[in-house]
This record gives sequence, C-alpha cells and structure tokens, in this order.
Amino acid sequence: MAIATVNPATGETLKTFDALNAGEIEDRLVRADQAFQIHHGTSFARRAELLHRAADLLEADQESVARTLTTEMGKPLVQARAEAAKCVKAMRWYADHAEALLADERPDPADVRDSGAVRAVVRYRPLGTILAVMPWNFPLWQVVRFAAPALMAGNTGLLKHASNVPQTALYLEELFRRAGYPDGCFQTLLIGSGAVEEVLRDPRIAAATLTGSEPAGRSVAAVAGDEIKKTVLELGGSDPYVVLPSADLDKAARVGVTARVQNNGQSCIAAKRFIVHEDVHDAFAERFTAGMAALTVGDPMDEATDIGPLASEQGRSDLEELVDDAVHRGARALCGGRRPPDHRAGWFYEPTVLAGITPSMRIHHEEAFGPVATLYRVADLDEAIELANDTPFGLSSNAWTRDAVEQERLARDLQAGGVYFNGMTASHPGMPFGGAKRSGYGRELSGHGMREFCNMTTLWYG
Ligand code: NAP
Repeated sequence: MAIATVNPATGETLKTFDALNAGEIEDRLVRADQAFQIHHGTSFARRAELLHRAADLLEADQESVARTLTTEMGKPLVQARAEAAKCVKAMRWYADHAEALLADERPDPADVRDSGAVRAVVRYRPLGTILAVMPWNFPLWQVVRFAAPALMAGNTGLLKHASNVPQTALYLEELFRRAGYPDGCFQTLLIGSGAVEEVLRDPRIAAATLTGSEPAGRSVAAVAGDEIKKTVLELGGSDPYVVLPSADLDKAARVGVTARVQNNGQSCIAAKRFIVHEDVHDAFAERFTAGMAALTVGDPMDEATDIGPLASEQGRSDLEELVDDAVHRGARALCGGRRPPDHRAGWFYEPTVLAGITPSMRIHHEEAFGPVATLYRVADLDEAIELANDTPFGLSSNAWTRDAVEQERLARDLQAGGVYFNGMTASHPGMPFGGAKRSGYGRELSGHGMREFCNMTTLWYG
C-alpha cells in the first residue's frame, strides 16, 4: 500500500510520501535508543511538564489537526474535533496520574521478613523503545493512548502508522518535538507493513503494541514471540448490543444508532450485532431502523453530516461483499444495503440494518467495518448470551436492562473485555481497555495499560 493521503470523500490523491530507506530507519533507531538513555532517568515532574505542554499544543491545533484527520480518513469533522479533545484530556490525565500509578509497591511485611529481607520494594521501570503499529480509524487517539502512558513511564516510542494517514503521523512526531521532548523520544517511521518485521527484530526495540486487524496482529505477535518480546494486541471486534424488556427502548434505539455509526461505522468497539428480546424486538427494530435511515450521508467537512465516506475503496468493497453475501443467503435490508444512488464520487455507503441473519452468512462471524447493523430476535436471556458469545471476537459488549439479576448474569457470562450497561462502549483514560478471544490481549489505558510496558522489578534488601 502506497504511503499517501487520498481523500476518501473524492478519491483524489493529495500527497504521496517515500518510505524511509534502511539508513533512515537505522538513524531513527539510534536516536530512539539515545533518547531512552536520557528520558528514562528524568523525573515524573519533568515528564508531566512535557506532556502537559504537548496537550496544550494539541488543544491549540485542534481545528487544523481535525481537518487533517477528516481529509485523510473521512470521519465527520465534528467527530475529528472530538477525537483531538479526547487526546488532550488523556494526555493531561496521564501527566497528572502517572507518578501515583507507578509508585513503588511494598509487599506484605510478613512476606518480606519471611524472604529474609529487611526491606523489599516493587518498582515499575520502563522497558525501552516501544514500536507502535497503529490503524487509521482513530489516527490521533490510537497513538496518544499508547504514547501518553509510555512516555510518562519513561519509555520512548517509534510509530509505524497506517499508510493512509501519513500527515497525521508526521504531525504527531512534530507535536512531541515542539513540546520539548528530547530528540528521538517519539518518532514516526514512514514505512510499509513489510518493513515492520526487521524493525521489530532489532535489539533496540524492547516491545510492540499493535492496534489493527487480526492478520496484522498475528503477524506482529509471531515475530515478537520469536524474539521473546512483549506485545499488546488491540484487534477487531463485533460487539453485541443486547436489548432486554426492561430497557428504556427510546434511549436504547437512539444510543444504538450512535454506537453503530460512530466514525462512519469504522470503530472496533462499535455495536455491530443487535440482539433483541422478542417482547420488545419489533418496537426496538422500528425505532432503530428509523434512526439509521434518517442519518445524513455526505461531505465529512460539512457539520450537518452524520456519516462520511469509508476510509478506502477496498474497505467499501469488503463491506459490500459482506452485505451482498447476507442478502444472497436470505437476509433482508430494513434500510440501506447499497451505495447512495446518486453516483457521487468517494467511498460512501448507506446506513444499513439487516434482519434475518443466520450462521451461514459471513456477517454472522466477521467484523462489518462500516455503517451496517445486524438484527437478531431472541426468546430469552440465555439465548441472548449464547448468541452474543457466538463470535470469534471478544472486545466489548453492551447490554440494556434495568434488572440487577440480569446485569449480574451478563457481567458473569459475556465473553468480552468490557460490559457496558444502559449505554455504549467508550474508552476513558481511567479504565482499562482491551479484548478477549480474537480481539487481542493486554490492556491499554489506566494504570494497567501503563504497566504493560514496564519492567516490574523486585528490589530486595538484605
Ligand atoms: P490493519 O490493516 O491491520 O492495519 C493496522 C496497522 O497494521 C497499519 O499500520 C498497517 O500498516 C499495519 N499492518 C498491516 N498488516 C501488517 C503486517 N502483516 N505486519 C505488520 N504490520 C501490518 O487494520 P486497519 O484496517 O488499519 O484497521 C482496522 C482494524 O483495526 C479493524 O479490525 C478494527 O476493529 C481494528 N481496531 C481495533 C482497535 C482496538 O482497540 N481493539 C481499535 C481500532 C481498530 P499499513 O497501513 O501500511 O498496511
């Protein structure tokens, strides 16, 4: 895939970039390593000062960077601004909380005595340079949720961003440089995915984090495993959205629309499979479908637009194939199911609700990365849970019920890294984020995410 900015709303190639050559990659590895030698010895206060400065700069740049995001991957401008604001918040959160989250821990005094020590401490020390392989769908947020905790912990970062968001990737490098980080602390590697293996095998890379598809995760984890390097994988999802009779149906339908179409439907934690109890199925289906059909598809720079284009032509044809396969096997499109009929340029697709889904359809098992919802009718809670878990993925999940017993049952049995009751999944810096099953392993955000890339060291004093 060429490294280029191609506007998904028009299909026009705006700017292309050369991939780094071997010498340029080596230069960045050297600088990352040298930066680590300086950065890991700095105080939390100094690191917090730098990260606050980066947050202030990003806040000031909000409008221009939002326009870059929308131009490169097509998300509505309003949502691009919100993404930048979310990054600012996370940076400030880590700047303010990292020291406490990584504070030394004291083992139980009885165990210390029993070990023969006079004193023992558990300390979280940084690992070194972390390679971050990132996707285009939240091109700022995915990077910041890695970089903010990693830099606060004393690590340095090398970013291999998705090939279709090079200007966002270069902006991020520049942002940290302008904030005053030591040269090499955070750098962008403009390279294709084929060059990742060699970088990952380099001894100066301590660990890797990847957010993206299952094949990319498998490939990076295999190389890292061969090198005995730690990885965190944030992969795809097909989150269930379970609606039970005690739900506030109006709200469940309204939030369900947002949960499905946020980011033009291209979010790992979007609700994708709507599993509705038969007592409320028809009422929910009617409101939800009406909400989806009423959305405005159009120019993502226009503030009135709800859904912009898909990020790539390939992404749209993958989605079309999934829908066509389902319809061919008997699914019914309650709305959408096609491109907008006006033959406009760009990679647009209508918001779609599919009913009558069966396990023979690809969309039952695969991730639909676009504004397409599948709708299921179930007889009871047991069937809802069974269906919710009938997927290779386990990223997050949503359940609408006001019944405490049902909530407890769902909290026990839904196979996912999160269960969000009476609301939609959304990450927050203070809470761990990540998946189970084929959605990956490890966690981002909160103290748990920051400690993924730390060497948890036992200090024992005789
Ligand atoms: P992708 O094709 O896997 O790309 C993600 C990143 O991996 C890009 O930088 C890509 O580089 C690189 N890559 C691809 N194949 C690789 C390989 N074999 N070895 C090394 N690097 C490789 O995914 P995407 O289409 O950008 O993103 C969509 C997927 O990401 C969806 O499945 C979505 O659910 C998932 N996602 C998960 C989360 C989460 O938190 N769990 C968040 C967001 C997205 P190139 O661009 O150069 O190919």
